[in-house]
Amino acid sequence: MKGLLAKLRMVHFVLPSLFERIRKFASCAGPGRCNVCDSKSATLFLNRLPAALYRCEECGLIFFSPLPSKKVLEDFYSSEEGYLPSIRETLDVYKTHYTARAARYENFMDRILKQAPGSKSVLDVGCGYGLFLLYCREKGFDTWGIEISKQTSAWAREQQLDVFTGSVHEAPFDNNYFDIVTSFHCLEHALDPQAELLKMASFCRKGGILLVAVPNAFSFAAEYSFASWPWNSWPNHLYYFSPRNLKIVLAKTGFEVLEIYSQAGDSDVNIDTGILGRILKLDAEERDEVLKLLYELNKGQELVVLARRRG
Ligand SMILES: [Zn+2]
Repeated sequence: MKGLLAKLRMVHFVLPSLFERIRKFASCAGPGRCNVCDSKSATLFLNRLPAALYRCEECGLIFFSPLPSKKVLEDFYSSEEGYLPSIRETLDVYKTHYTARAARYENFMDRILKQAPGSKSVLDVGCGYGLFLLYCREKGFDTWGIEISKQTSAWAREQQLDVFTGSVHEAPFDNNYFDIVTSFHCLEHALDPQAELLKMASFCRKGGILLVAVPNAFSFAAEYSFASWPWNSWPNHLYYFSPRNLKIVLAKTGFEVLEIYSQAGDSDVNIDTGILGRILKLDAEERDEVLKLLYELNKGQELVVLARRRG
């Protein structure tokens, strides 16, 4: 009996602590393969809890390791303490600054239609409240969306938008159907961005257009201070792309890159303006000149890429 009790004690007290040590050791041992280029050579970029940031030595992808569990992400995207307050701001911005938002959407659409005139159908992956889809519908496009958050996708459906609640992998849409697939600030949230892009490629018709916008890890603000960069954010932003590795992953997932450029982000606050004002003490005219130069050098906050689905 004594022996049995000792064994039970070991199972209940010793093993969990042993597993905890193994888990810690595994996470200290470094990250796995790079999601873009499959390289195993990543070095510690920024050490922070609960996960460290690593930078791939081959392609420069910056990523968290270990990644959060699906359960952590489910809680994050559905709780009032997590994702919802921040995304609610985008709805407020849309309502109060509709003209600026519409100008932003119009710019994206102009670029897409230049590459693929006559496009009719749009699928927005990670559509949030469906604000881009509302704009597209107003312009006469046929619109569909995919959104992980139950609350925001429900709001989109109240606007009579056809939005599926769930992941891109669960969405019941036809392959090779859509003329245009868009994804605004979504890819960096995915546990496996390469798989996400492959799925987007399958939804896009051959010759169709993909437009992806992500935070720019190569931006002036990110390079100035990644630790205090507002888009360095756990557990929602798990990967940080630069023009180089975004091109690599698009080529691997069936796309031909047509255009890649940077611009100010999608929030009302231009982070670059704040940093430039603080460190260089520029007047408004000088600051605008510097911002223009930053965007030309692909150093803006947001990275946008247009790509064509290869035939
Ligand atoms: Zn890599």
